[in-house]
Amino acid sequence: MAFTKKRRFIAGAVCPKCSAMDKIVVYSEQDQDWRECVACGYQEKMHFKPKPKELETRVNTPDEVKKEQLQVLQFPPK
Ligand SMILES: [Zn+2]
Repeated sequence: MAFTKKRRFIAGAVCPKCSAMDKIVVYSEQDQDWRECVACGYQEKMHFKPKPKELETRVNTPDEVKKEQLQVLQFPPK
């Protein structure tokens, strides 16, 4: 939930349906973020990308990365 229940205009936002500018409001309702065009009534649930889990995986498995790097170093130079 990124927005409050109070509707806020997004400056410069363009409605994907009617192409009206500065008519898009964002608000939060039922733990979901919505954007709505006050000009034509277009309404869309907003999707935010979840926090990347790849970074956590890399931190948890540093040994595998080290092994791969060592194997590369063990190859004799041509
Ligand atoms: Zn619109």
